[in-house]
Amino acid sequence: MTLDPTTLNVAFVLLSLVLGVLLVFAWTLNRKVRALLPWGAAFCLIASGFAVANLGRSSGSYPALLIGNVLGLMSYVTLYAGCRIFNGRRGFPPAIVTGVGLWIAAFPFIYERQDHRLILVALTTGAYSLLSARELQRHARQPLASQRIAVVLLNLLAIFNIMRTWPGIALTSIPWIDALAYRWSSEMALFLVVFAPTLAFIFLSMAKESVELGYKQAAFVDPLTGIPNRRAFMQNAEALIASKAGKPVSCLVLDLDNFKRINDRYGHEVGDTVLKLFGQVLGRHLPQQSFGRLGGEEFAAVLPMNMECAAALGEAVRDDFSRAGNAMLGSETQVTVSVGCSASTNASIELLLREADLALYRAKDHGRNVVVSAMTLADA
Ligand code: GH3
Ligand code: MG
Ligand code: MG
Repeated sequence: MTLDPTTLNVAFVLLSLVLGVLLVFAWTLNRKVRALLPWGAAFCLIASGFAVANLGRSSGSYPALLIGNVLGLMSYVTLYAGCRIFNGRRGFPPAIVTGVGLWIAAFPFIYERQDHRLILVALTTGAYSLLSARELQRHARQPLASQRIAVVLLNLLAIFNIMRTWPGIALTSIPWIDALAYRWSSEMALFLVVFAPTLAFIFLSMAKESVELGYKQAAFVDPLTGIPNRRAFMQNAEALIASKAGKPVSCLVLDLDNFKRINDRYGHEVGDTVLKLFGQVLGRHLPQQSFGRLGGEEFAAVLPMNMECAAALGEAVRDDFSRAGNAMLGSETQVTVSVGCSASTNASIELLLREADLALYRAKDHGRNVVVSAMTLADA
């Protein structure tokens, strides 16, 4: 089978253009993933740069070679910008356009030397690909499987570009390396025709994965306090109980005291700040994912320990919160919490919560700001 380089080049230009437009279209559908716009622009830029540079190659035109390669390099800069934006990183290091500046400055001197042009463009695009790969690898905001694949693809692109430098330096007797020494070969065009849609698909997958993760987080995290919500707490508690069969598991139900009064006196916003403060106090004393906000000013925790140890942790939370609340609103307002505690070796979370709730009622009856343990729960 003979692959015609010109046909492949035309295919690559058209393919990149369509992929670029599709990525921009995907951005218009979901503007939350802002990176889709620069990534789409990068595909359009490489298509136009490639088309213009190809014209330049066949006609030896000075402006076509200069501009075509500038567009190509700008495509890599835009690709990198997209990676930064995807990671939620602010600012754009101006030094990143150095590669483009270098090309414009050097072009008058290397215009006649095809090997020098090849070395400069190949090295610059290789460096840009590496930068993009490192950006996605080092600064990932979320653990996305597709982002890890994008890192591999961009490293592959870097290797491809850097390898193109070599034929500019020396011809060898190895046929496949020498094939690269020609300005453009079918093998290289074929690589890009396969690579471009793969990269575009992975960028779209990254966008989809990150949106899904966002929804998932919203479904499991309490938006006010940032701690697990009731649904997440129940799931985590069930998983803990299942993994500790036959071993003691305790449950705390924690309810802020006279919270309505705090709202009435200081306003809802201050009430919200107190709830956030309590979320932080829980995070300081209890293991991650062991607690959550059940609703309103009621929280709960499930712990792999006996009632005595759990009650001691509840006491630490109660004490810390009353100090922190005091520091926040002053001593004339009581910012305190009452805690009910239950334990069992094989009860369901529903039963543990019910028993802890009964203990909590007793804590409220005993004047609040206190931890009360349930009567020993009969094993269910
Ligand atoms: P007790 O000590 O008996 O628990 O009294 P309490 O005032 O804490 O209990 P009550 O159930 O009477 O009032 C709870 C209050 O919590 C009423 C409600 O307005 C307030 N609340 C519930 N959710 C929120 C919230 O998200 N933000 C704020 N600021 N207040 C909330
Ligand atoms: Mg309350
Ligand atoms: Mg309550």
